[in-house]
Amino acid sequence: MSATSSSAGISRNPKDYRIATIGSHTALQILKGARDEGVPNLVICRKGSERPYISYGVADEILFVDDWSQWDSVIEPELIKRNAINIPHGSFISYMGPEKVKTMKSMYYGTKEILEWESDRTMEREWLLDAKLLLPRVFEKPEDIDSPVIVKFHGAGGGFGYFVVRTPEQFYEVKNRKYPDENDYTIQEYIVGVPLYIHYFYSPITKELEIMSFDKRYESNADSIGRIKAEDQLAAKIHTSYTVVGNVPVVVRESMLPELFEMGERVVKASQKLPGIGKGLFGPFCLETIVTRKLQIYVFEISARIVAGTNPFIEGSPYTALKYKEPMSTGRRLARDIKQAIESGRLHDILG
Ligand code: ATP
Repeated sequence: MSATSSSAGISRNPKDYRIATIGSHTALQILKGARDEGVPNLVICRKGSERPYISYGVADEILFVDDWSQWDSVIEPELIKRNAINIPHGSFISYMGPEKVKTMKSMYYGTKEILEWESDRTMEREWLLDAKLLLPRVFEKPEDIDSPVIVKFHGAGGGFGYFVVRTPEQFYEVKNRKYPDENDYTIQEYIVGVPLYIHYFYSPITKELEIMSFDKRYESNADSIGRIKAEDQLAAKIHTSYTVVGNVPVVVRESMLPELFEMGERVVKASQKLPGIGKGLFGPFCLETIVTRKLQIYVFEISARIVAGTNPFIEGSPYTALKYKEPMSTGRRLARDIKQAIESGRLHDILG
């Protein structure tokens, strides 16, 4: 909030602010969304990564940086000068690190405290259980494995190194052979079903929860293994990996929508009761789920910010087409929340 009071006073003119983000992940969508809502924008690029932002012509200004360690000395003073409001996305958090985000002085859209709850698997589970969501069972120790499980290493970017086994013996065989030094992992029930990523938006201004869109991920090699027959898979010794290459739009069975809305609502409500959480969860967030043949919806993760799965919907989704007269991406919805907060003198309600 300091930047608002220092340079632009308590201006209610969106043109006195800038929506800013780091050039990666969902930046194109965020920048276009800001422009469509008439809020100036800015993108921070590491030298060499600026091409898309120039080519697609969505950025009003590009700030260059050699290295993210220059954030404090080079970038942040410029952001403060311009009354910039940072929009966090997956790459933003991973480049900055949660600690840096907490101490950032420039304006930040969202609840910073939520980062701790979603980055710690135990805390995340507590929150999602409070929200009465269905979660995959967690096995305390390898000896407890009595059904197919997925073993997840903490901090494994893009699901790298995850493996599926169904007995303690198989677990130790894979673990000792491939990952002898990795001891920070979770053993989770493997849910057989289709992945479904639900993109929500909760506005503290309108107090409404919206479903913006859905996607599934396009993952290598998980999405390529089924292209060859089982015996060739065995012969080729293909390693199952979940590196995300892109995102594919999904439209769900309409009869599932009431439950999906309620799930999102419960997550927001439960977040408001978490200790030390301030304003609770708001803005864009995503429940990452697997839906079984009995239509049970298992949630295996929450992302408390805009996810890259919203990128196919820069021109809006079938769902936002129902609700809005204009093409409404999640990036644009974010910009609208910011604009409405500025115009109604409620900027403090959307800043972390
Ligand atoms: P993120 O990038 O969202 O932080 P990640 O890339 O580290 O996550 P996950 O998204 O947790 O990894 O999972 C990777 C893949 O594993 C996804 O395709 C997901 O569908 C699958 N998966 C995760 N948990 C389970 C589960 N319990 N049962 C079945 N499949 C799962």
